Amino acid sequence: MLTELYADFVVIGSGPAGQKAAIQAAKLGKSVVVVEQDEHPGGVSLNSGTIPSKSLREAILDLTDFYQRSYYGKEGAEKETSISDLNFRLHKVLDEQRKNLHRQFEKNKIQVISGTACFDSPHQIVILDNFKQAIGRIKGSVFLIATGSRPRNPIHVPFDQDTVLDSTRLLTIGFVPKTLLVLGGGIIGTEYASFFAALGTEVTVADKRDRLLPFLDREIGVHLEKALSIIGLRVVGNKEPKKIEKKVEGGVRVDFVDGTYLEAQAMLYALGREANITSLHIENAGVSIDSRGYIPVNALFQTAVSHIYAAGDVIGPPALASTSMEQGRLAARHAFGAKTHHFPAFYPIGIYTIPEISSCGYTEEELQILGFHYEVGRAHYYEIARNQIKGNDAGMFKILFHAETLEILGIHIIGREATEVIHIGQVAMSFHAKIDYFIDQVFNYPTYAEGYRIAALNGLNKIKHKY
Ligand SMILES: Cc1cc2nc3c(=O)[nH]c(=O)nc-3n(C[C@H](O)[C@H](O)[C@H](O)COP(=O)(O)OP(=O)(O)OC[C@H]3O[C@@H](n4cnc5c(N)ncnc54)[C@H](O)[C@@H]3O)c2cc1C
Repeated sequence: MLTELYADFVVIGSGPAGQKAAIQAAKLGKSVVVVEQDEHPGGVSLNSGTIPSKSLREAILDLTDFYQRSYYGKEGAEKETSISDLNFRLHKVLDEQRKNLHRQFEKNKIQVISGTACFDSPHQIVILDNFKQAIGRIKGSVFLIATGSRPRNPIHVPFDQDTVLDSTRLLTIGFVPKTLLVLGGGIIGTEYASFFAALGTEVTVADKRDRLLPFLDREIGVHLEKALSIIGLRVVGNKEPKKIEKKVEGGVRVDFVDGTYLEAQAMLYALGREANITSLHIENAGVSIDSRGYIPVNALFQTAVSHIYAAGDVIGPPALASTSMEQGRLAARHAFGAKTHHFPAFYPIGIYTIPEISSCGYTEEELQILGFHYEVGRAHYYEIARNQIKGNDAGMFKILFHAETLEILGIHIIGREATEVIHIGQVAMSFHAKIDYFIDQVFNYPTYAEGYRIAALNGLNKIKHKY
């Protein structure tokens, strides 16, 4: 029997964008249905991306006594960490997060329908089961497409479950590889490369560019590469893969366009993701995709059809769980006439490599291109008492500010707690704070946050003849 439903708000996809949109609309008193094709609601963020990768990172840091090493002068991972040790932590976190999500949907009376949604008209979707049979129809006043993205799996790459992997397959391998080749020095590739290097795996990252994460402030990027080389990670630039093949005796071989090749026990193919569009039949709703395969939206997250919104990875960069959540929430607020605002111009980016990085605002290179008259304040982690207490790891704060108005223009932090302490700077920036704000306030001591004061003093001292 076909389910026939009507809802004020029909959300397709239960990742961060869909969840926050659904909850927001429910809070505004609307009837909400979320359609999810995966067995577990929560999207990539909960099931195969953000939460699993960050749980693994934490497990690796703990189980290998990573931060103890520098303190007690040890080199490399001393204990062998098994995949079941890592999975134990992972599954515990996933179970808790899934229960939490279920509670939130229940509490807000959000109905979750299991199946794949596809449009058959601008105001109706059909729900299909795993055999592509229609099991229901839902009419709605407003729709949100929050179907996210998946790893790009080109046809010529022989993916399997233990040797040639993408970021989803990597989560189910039954062993810790002795050698790992990572193709792609973007965020996902570099994060996983650093996790495995910390575990003791011999890791090589190959990328067609000559450095990892080229969008980073250059100085932070140099710091990262140095830190990664200390844990044994090798980066080879200007490498474009030509042929990827599994070897008969096990492992994988990648031949590059320049005639060289690399071999490893396992490979992570981290060369991009693509939006989940195909199953939706958005053409039946009058919506189309852009040349990169994303759904174009206006600043209010409306597609070309005004009652159909889209948010999250499906609309393209920045494609983060953090930004997707806010996009979904703002879409729902606009759709139902609640007071809203534009997506913030500055927001932090967190990169959970080991060491972690976080930044907000302009890089130094961007300021140079834009012609800003700027100055730089730096605090090295060895100057921060809290860091010495914790283990004396390398790291730095870099604050860029306008040399005349003193307004903060960019904050870049690499090292422990970077993804947490960035928010102090983010808040200051959103209130257009000047660099001396960090000097005139009292900070808890000893904390990593003290880095803001040290960097601010360092920066202001460079122009003190004026102030
Ligand atoms: C390895 C990895 C690490 C990451 N780490 C971070 C991080 O540290 N911080 C961060 O902010 N971001 C991180 N991200 C990015 C983050 O996971 C995504 O940006 C986020 O999940 C996107 O949310 P979303 O709601 O757009 O889509 P998704 O989370 O992808 O969810 C979309 C959902 O829609 C469902 N769906 C698709 N098509 C249909 C259909 N036709 N019908 C019904 N359901 C459908 C899918 O099954 C899925 O559940 C990471 C990603 C990866 C892969």
